Amino acid sequence: MTEQYAVIGHPLGHTLSPLLHNWGFEHRHVDARYAALPVTPGELDGFMERVRGGAFAGLSVTIPHKRAVMAHLDGLTPRAEAVGAVNTVFWRDGLLLGENTDVLGIVESLRNLGPFRRGLVLGAGGAARAAVAALKELGLGGIFVVNRTRDKAEALAREFGATAAPWESRATLGADLLVNTTPLGMSGERVEECPWPGNTPIPSDLTVFDLVYNPLVTILLQRAKAAGCRTISGLEMFLRQGLAQFKLWTGLDLDPDQARTLLLNALQAP
Ligand code: NAP
Repeated sequence: MTEQYAVIGHPLGHTLSPLLHNWGFEHRHVDARYAALPVTPGELDGFMERVRGGAFAGLSVTIPHKRAVMAHLDGLTPRAEAVGAVNTVFWRDGLLLGENTDVLGIVESLRNLGPFRRGLVLGAGGAARAAVAALKELGLGGIFVVNRTRDKAEALAREFGATAAPWESRATLGADLLVNTTPLGMSGERVEECPWPGNTPIPSDLTVFDLVYNPLVTILLQRAKAAGCRTISGLEMFLRQGLAQFKLWTGLDLDPDQARTLLLNALQAP
């Protein structure tokens, strides 16, 4: 019987996850299908009962369910436990478990580029949480969190033993790794907005990782490239978190280069 997988969230905007996973199933001859299913917060309990009944072999979980879904699981991986959020649900030995491959996606994107001394995370929402957990996992000595709303930066920093600093100080903190987790620069009305101050040059020794991947080269990455910085697109995180999900569900690896080409083609398609 064809196994069913899905990404659940609400609202569920355009997502590349079905493309990636359905390509993977076909490529590795797995009899399975992956769908995008809008599930509202009010529908989550009923939906998870269906999952527990065996209707789904695995799930990707996105906003707003990454924390709420934990109450429906039998256990968490240490990484999901540490970050306090789940983006992947999978079965092991009859138990329904939660992992956080967002953290892994950031770790894997950075693993071979370091070591980094001091990280700066812009933003304090869900993606920032994953970024701070990832920088901790990578063993960075210092991690700064700055956010438009200062209180949220302070709460996140406190929880993970990082340091909160004012949003206005972001260009002066002496970081060698910058991770943008704000939506500034995203396609649409924010595409011209840059989270780095307009009047301050970006130091060339800063590695700049923009979690936004549509457009592929955001205004932040354009400025960073022009300044001579090493840059990483958010597509790398998306790719790595997706490959980790596929491995958890099927035990199989997908070729990252082939998968990256698939995603790049989809993003660049007119
Ligand atoms: P979120 O929980 O809503 O957090 C958004 C953060 O951005 C908040 O800290 C918010 O600050 C800040 N922000 C929003 N508008 C801003 C503005 N105009 N100026 C300064 N700061 C602003 O969202 P999220 O789930 O963390 O996602 C954030 C971004 O990460 C998304 O846009 C997405 O592109 C990216 N992302 C990428 C991947 C990937 O696989 N590459 C995965 C997940 C997310 P306040 O607290 O002040 O509101």
